[in-house]
Amino acid sequence: MADDPQKPGLIPSASTTGSAIGAALATIAQDAIMLFGEPAQRKRLRRCENPGCKVVFYDDSRPGRRRWCASNRCGDRMRAKSYRKRQKAQGV
Ligand SMILES: [Zn+2]
Repeated sequence: MADDPQKPGLIPSASTTGSAIGAALATIAQDAIMLFGEPAQRKRLRRCENPGCKVVFYDDSRPGRRRWCASNRCGDRMRAKSYRKRQKAQGV
């Protein structure tokens, strides 16, 4: 049987869903511009230094030198890793 072009499809009309998603995206984009519009704030948007982690975070610390998405997660992991590396290098 050939496809009947008159048959209503299962995909809802693009005009209703499209505008709802579009409105939501516009709100998100607006928030992003508000948050990261300032160059000083944009510099604080960075990627976690853990190579296995792809999280991008906003550094809200006062000195602005945060290196990990969460210090009690990637921070601890990376500190432990560099500690073991140092121990190994010293032949302990
Ligand atoms: Zn991380």
